[in-house]
Amino acid sequence: MAFTSRTDTLMKYMSLDQKGSVIAEYIWIDSVGNTRSKSRTLPAKEYTPADLPTWNFDGSSTGQAPGENSDVYLKPVAVFADPFLGSPNILVLAECWDNDGTPNKYNYRHECAKLMEAHKDRKPWFGLEQEYTLLGDDDRPYGWPKGGFPAPQFQYYCGVGYGNVVQRDIVLAHYKACLYAGINISGTNAEVMPAQWEFQVGPCEGIAMGDQLWVARFILNRVAEDFGAKVSVHPKPMKGDWNGAGLHTNFSTEEMRVEGGMAYIEAAIKKLEARHADHIAVYGEENEQRLTGRHETGAIDQFTWGIANRACSIRIPREVGAKGYGYFEDRRPASNADPYRITHAIMLSCFGDAE
Ligand code: ADP
Ligand code: MN
Ligand code: MN
Ligand code: MN
Repeated sequence: MAFTSRTDTLMKYMSLDQKGSVIAEYIWIDSVGNTRSKSRTLPAKEYTPADLPTWNFDGSSTGQAPGENSDVYLKPVAVFADPFLGSPNILVLAECWDNDGTPNKYNYRHECAKLMEAHKDRKPWFGLEQEYTLLGDDDRPYGWPKGGFPAPQFQYYCGVGYGNVVQRDIVLAHYKACLYAGINISGTNAEVMPAQWEFQVGPCEGIAMGDQLWVARFILNRVAEDFGAKVSVHPKPMKGDWNGAGLHTNFSTEEMRVEGGMAYIEAAIKKLEARHADHIAVYGEENEQRLTGRHETGAIDQFTWGIANRACSIRIPREVGAKGYGYFEDRRPASNADPYRITHAIMLSCFGDAE
């Protein structure tokens, strides 16, 4: 599809009065880990999820339901300001439910929310580092020479300057849009492979982590759409001597964040070790291409941990090791993993089931 931008013309319409209506963009997660959305008009007021109507969509068009029973329900769970249309318009994150009153097969939020509620006294905080790659129309990383390769990895990580980074306008627009929406975005950086970037969201407590990351992903895809670039969250977009892309997951509980916390951090790491394979199973598709033990990763079939070591499954940041309390980083999740499944697995391993 050819890219055309008509921003100047669009702007004529963007300032028109909405005559007392709010546009609500309902967002959900489909069967392959993309976001989908559609909009509807509601009377102007301040909305919380409880005031928002349940809606539905054709699940047979998103791989979420069979054609003969295709209605999937959208139950609002979180509301954000809409950075594309501005106030009073809103983004509405919704959970997918089937007609028989059970969560849709691809609704990983429901179980995660239950577990977060059961263990809420732990005050679990998460911080996710979303790495992604911007692709051009040829489905190769943006700006890579046609039929060839850029210079080997070195100058790109946190890079500055023409030739070192591409599409910084997308990164900046996404950052501003997330702040406007009310996403707890904590920073951004250019990554090791050219055309690869990262943003961080967190710390977020409990289920808010998955909610915020999914909406931040939606916003990124909308922004990149405006700029004519594709967003890939494949964990190994380019084979060979190029870094993969992860979703490093930083985690702490209240006990870990205060003096004496290291004992709780080490206890949690032991629990994670015992369920290594169960974690890998929900930490993203094709992650074996990335977790090779090279390119700043641990090997997929080994559980390892260390202070300040980036070739491990789990890294304790140097500063946390020195202070003796804080948080740890699970480096295993792939960039295409579902944050609800990651945070669910960590809570389940550390603290057990809800019942
Ligand atoms: P890295 O050094 O691995 O690149 P980043 O700075 O990219 O780390 O990301 C660290 C993430 O950890 C951020 O999202 C931050 O909000 C989050 N974080 C910081 N402190 C905590 C904590 N106590 N518990 C959980 N997450 C935390
Ligand atoms: Mn980072
Ligand atoms: Mn990174
Ligand atoms: Mn990291």
